[in-house]
Amino acid sequence: DPLPDRYIKGAALGTGTYGRVFKAVDTKTGQTVAIKKIHIGKQKDGVNFTALREIKMLKELKHPNIIELIDAFPHKGNLHLVFEFMETDLEAVIRDRNIVLSPADIKSYVQMTLKGLSFCHKKWVLHRDMKPNNLLIGSRGQLKLADFGLARLFGSPDRRFTHQVFALWYRAPELLFGAKQYGPGVDVWAAACIFAELLLRRPFLPGHSEMDQLGKIFAALGTPKPAQYSDMVYLPDYVEYQYVPGQPLQSLFPMASADALDLLSKMFVYDPKARISAQQALEHRYFSSGPPPTEPALLPRPP
Ligand code: ADP
Repeated sequence: DPLPDRYIKGAALGTGTYGRVFKAVDTKTGQTVAIKKIHIGKQKDGVNFTALREIKMLKELKHPNIIELIDAFPHKGNLHLVFEFMETDLEAVIRDRNIVLSPADIKSYVQMTLKGLSFCHKKWVLHRDMKPNNLLIGSRGQLKLADFGLARLFGSPDRRFTHQVFALWYRAPELLFGAKQYGPGVDVWAAACIFAELLLRRPFLPGHSEMDQLGKIFAALGTPKPAQYSDMVYLPDYVEYQYVPGQPLQSLFPMASADALDLLSKMFVYDPKARISAQQALEHRYFSSGPPPTEPALLPRPP
């Protein structure tokens, strides 16, 4: 099915949480783009106004560390979202055994992630589904967060595709306890899991179910004491659990610097109200102490 004149459709790139993604050329700019097809079905009055308003707002979210939503249009029962094309993603970098990530490289990736997050959080936009394959990497090494705001617009992915559990690994404790109201802290928790994964080169908390996910979190960080997270007991899915002591982060990440561990410990705070914000994290001494973050263009990437 041909697209509106502006785009020349190319190869399929894959299928993601919301639908198929393919490569295309934007004839208006000559730019290579990635178009995400999202099935919305036949709606009485087209795409609803709330969705349109939100899409307009996402188009205005412009930052060097946010993937740009270039265009959005409905076509044959699908909403098409046009994004800038990106070469690879952080998951590919973490998985590539030929890539060595230095402390400065890790700092650079974490800093770019937090810069993107901080920008969106200031505009009250949450990501809600951060994971390494949502952190795309461009031809000049720049990391950009993809799929911002989509979880809220099109529903939580885990409810649509129950077989897709990997995002579970990055899920904040308040979400696992069933919190209906949550804030930017959910993205900071996910960023902490990604930070940890960069240090370990494997997922830090790979749970198999929501219960197992909480178990993995508790086994690593210790069960939260009521004084640490007093609102916890009021959350819908809260269950009493047996006390588990945490492990010192130093023993979990023996290769990390003291500054890295201090920041990590502030991102992995149970109470979302006490968790460090993305902006505060950027001001942490981890980013001002040596070594300085690697220039994006010099970061190691898969071939
Ligand atoms: P998921 O929902 O699982 O994160 P996506 O829908 O984002 O997956 O992406 C599906 C596939 O399309 C993936 O293989 C991803 O690498 C590719 N893709 C998504 N966005 C882009 C982009 N902007 N540039 C290049 N490839 C992309």
